[in-house]
Amino acid sequence: MSQCPTSTSLPDGAYEALFTHGIDGFLLASPEGEILRANPRACELLGRSEAELIEVGRAGLVDRRDPRWVEAVERRGRDGAYRGVLRLRRGDGSTFPAEVSTALLPGGDTPLAYVSFRDMTAAEAEAARTAESRRAAAEVVDSLESFSDMYFGVDADWRITYINAQAEARLGVSRDDVVGRDLWQHFPDLLGTPFEEAYREAVRTRRPVTVEACYAAADLWAETRVFPLRRGGLGVYFRDVGERRAMEQERERLLTAERRARTDAERAQHDLAHRATHDDLTGLPNRTGLVQQVGAVLDRWPVAGMTLLFIDLDRFKLVNDSLGHAAGDALLAVAASRLAELAGSTELVARFGGDEFVMAMFDASVVAADRMAAAVIAALSEPVETGARLAVTASVGMASSAVPADLDTLLREADAAMHRAKDGGGGRAAWFDEQMHLQSVHRVRTERDLRLALERDELFLEYQPAFDLRFERITHVEALVRWRHPERGVVPPLEFVPVAEEAGLIGRLGEWVLGRVVEQATRWAHVPGLRVWVNVSPRQLADGRMPDVLATHLARAGLGADRLGIEVTESTFADSSCMAAVLEEVRALGVAVAIDDFGTGYSSLARLGDLPVDVIKIDRSFVQDLGTARGEAVLSSIVTLAHALDAEVIAEGVETLEQLRALSVLGADSASGFLLARPAAPEHLPMVLADPASARPQLHPSVARVPRELRVH
Ligand code: C2E
Ligand code: MG
Ligand code: MG
Repeated sequence: MSQCPTSTSLPDGAYEALFTHGIDGFLLASPEGEILRANPRACELLGRSEAELIEVGRAGLVDRRDPRWVEAVERRGRDGAYRGVLRLRRGDGSTFPAEVSTALLPGGDTPLAYVSFRDMTAAEAEAARTAESRRAAAEVVDSLESFSDMYFGVDADWRITYINAQAEARLGVSRDDVVGRDLWQHFPDLLGTPFEEAYREAVRTRRPVTVEACYAAADLWAETRVFPLRRGGLGVYFRDVGERRAMEQERERLLTAERRARTDAERAQHDLAHRATHDDLTGLPNRTGLVQQVGAVLDRWPVAGMTLLFIDLDRFKLVNDSLGHAAGDALLAVAASRLAELAGSTELVARFGGDEFVMAMFDASVVAADRMAAAVIAALSEPVETGARLAVTASVGMASSAVPADLDTLLREADAAMHRAKDGGGGRAAWFDEQMHLQSVHRVRTERDLRLALERDELFLEYQPAFDLRFERITHVEALVRWRHPERGVVPPLEFVPVAEEAGLIGRLGEWVLGRVVEQATRWAHVPGLRVWVNVSPRQLADGRMPDVLATHLARAGLGADRLGIEVTESTFADSSCMAAVLEEVRALGVAVAIDDFGTGYSSLARLGDLPVDVIKIDRSFVQDLGTARGEAVLSSIVTLAHALDAEVIAEGVETLEQLRALSVLGADSASGFLLARPAAPEHLPMVLADPASARPQLHPSVARVPRELRVH
């Protein structure tokens, strides 16, 4: 502390003036504590007159509860002076803090003490306030530190003023490095982000702003609240919401996936429903679709009558086979659209598979139906360009009935009428009539009974042998199926095999026949070189399983493949070109293939060479023609050609000796027919010898009658 300069003494009256006008309270007292004088400021501060002060003395001015007083008394006693803060009492009993300085006045005979004091109320309050705000600030900082949220503050110049521990850790910075630094310089990745926008908006609007965005530099999805501070600058709270966002995103992803799955399922459901009722190729309703739509029309409108047009393209199979399926499909698609156009919005049209279409007309007169049939035939016979120019005709069968109609029956009737139109040469329409009705009823019954027949084991086989014309022995037998109907007696195959084919029962029937034939052939294993032929319908070959089925049967029975042959009709080859491949597989097994009823069907002699067959069975009708020059010429050329192709020729239906002779002369290899043997149960066949050891089959007497010189050797 510097010494007061003493060189210049105060002028006279200065002390008195300081005493009287001083800003501090001033008391003059005896060392014992009697107050001798008090200045006006002291009177003012202590709320007493000078006289009163003199009366209460120094001790009466102090708040004795103030612990500092004891210390003050001690200090003064020891040092003769004291300086410090004490609480003083006013005249009204209230107290106030005062900075008090007391000491003995130097000089003079009677020692005097002075007390000067000033009111510290305001200063103390200010100090308390400062302490409080310090404490509060410390508390804020503490709480900012203990926050789970992250926080940093910037001042009005974007200088970072504070950053809490969480923010340090998450942002990977240290407080010492960032505090005092420019926010944008230190975190340049904030520039151009929604965060920058939010900070600036908070500064501009003086309102808190909330923003949620990703701070890529720290791979941080932050929910941020920006508070403008009163003193300027910003406080920025933010929290990592990455997990929540990930959960939200996952939820969103799941929701989207679920939504997509639901849509997919609905679409699939719809597709399924559509596919179940519609035809893929033409988009027209299929059979199920037609049944549904007819039902819907009948439900909705007061319809009295319904007419069905069963439409079938003539010789469509030829198009398919010769030009390929693509051309066939194109043709069907065009046909479908032409029919749909004719049907308009009043009639229904559907595709029943293959080249069959059905149109349903409601309350149509016979004339209107006839007109529609003619329009259909005309429309379908218009040429179609599918790479090649195709022209087909169509056959239409018509049937009508009053509503409610049995749609199945009506369809069957229209179908039957269509077949009649076809039989009449195609390209025409025909109505279903009474006779057809009876036939169709009969057919329905046959189908129903046939199903039962398969279950009740009403089918049986007869075998008809064929004789080698050169070696005079039985070369093979043909298995022929029969049905012992409980009411109709024995039904011939031509009456039920076609029904089985149409009703989809031919597979089961064929399996049954094959099983029995293989069994029987095994029983005939002792007869040398005997082959058993079995008739197979085209539909049995369609799925391509025949080679496997045959192989399985042979293996199971332990039968040599050379003991079995299958007969197929010429129409088999007309149906599809892949049949030939299936038959090649059958032959590869060692099972022979015969073309049955040759000459009645579709193949021309010229095509014979393309057919994968071992045997040609000449139809009975040619045998009957023998005796005429033309008949013999035809037969002769078949035999010649067949032999040139290394195929055997068997003539069927030989009923007379003349026929047998003629066949022998023409060079047919074998013959069968009522003349030689009727189809019969296996036990009645001539080759069943009493003694299997002498296994040479008997020569049939009729064959024996053929003069030796006529036999071809
Ligand atoms: P197909 O295979 O041509 O059989 C020959 C048919 O001619 C047999 O008629 C037979 O009884 C008959 N027949 C034999 N010799 C003579 C004769 O000298 N004069 C006359 N008028 N007829 C004779 P069936 O048994 O009525 O068989 C008819 C057709 O039924 C068979 O013709 C064959 O195509 C078919 N069929 C027979 N069995 C089966 C079978 O198991 N499966 C299949 N898919 N069709 C069979
Ligand atoms: Mg046959
Ligand atoms: Mg035949």
